[in-house]
Amino acid sequence: MVAANGFWAPGAQILWQYKSPRGLPWIDPMTVVQDDSNGLVAWLAAGTETLQAQRPDGSDLRADRSKLFSGDRVGVRRPWKDHDVLRVSPTGKRWSVWLCWDCNTREFKGWYGNLEAPLRRDGDMVLTRDHTLDLLVAPDRRHGRKDEDELAIARSVGWYTQGEVDEILDAAAELEAVIEVWGSPFCDGWEDFKPDPSWPLPALPNRYHDRPSEHG
Ligand code: MG
Repeated sequence: MVAANGFWAPGAQILWQYKSPRGLPWIDPMTVVQDDSNGLVAWLAAGTETLQAQRPDGSDLRADRSKLFSGDRVGVRRPWKDHDVLRVSPTGKRWSVWLCWDCNTREFKGWYGNLEAPLRRDGDMVLTRDHTLDLLVAPDRRHGRKDEDELAIARSVGWYTQGEVDEILDAAAELEAVIEVWGSPFCDGWEDFKPDPSWPLPALPNRYHDRPSEHG
């Protein structure tokens, strides 16, 4: 439910979708923590049923990384595992910052800078495209890039233009500069966040079913 000011109220349930022009959607049902002109903060609890993608034979997309951006893929409903995640998406940025906790011990495991297109909103959804390259930031603030090899593979098969790759690398440098000065959202204390225990797990709507006949 969107309030009169155009933002979601805390506790609202939304769908956060990643989709590439040639890929299947990945959809995470999430609960809004905070939403205002500064950006969106939302919670993804371990155990939430999500829409992910896999090979038609059931294998993981990364089983053969050289084919990560080619070959058939199918959608599958699957629970989010291992970590509870808080996503912080500052308005207009080419990244969101994910805070990750071990879902069993509640130990804070660090930040994950997910490079992606600035969020768009549509009804109860936020829409973006994952940009393959990620940044890992440990609890001691050491950081590094993840999946540079996958970005190179993606470029080689035309998943991105060179201009798009340059944009992604520029966004990575921008986020690294924020990390270096420990700017927002890293300095905002989100690592002390605790979800409202009364929040039910948001459901993945039935319209997202297993194995659509669409190819990635
Ligand atoms: Mg990513």
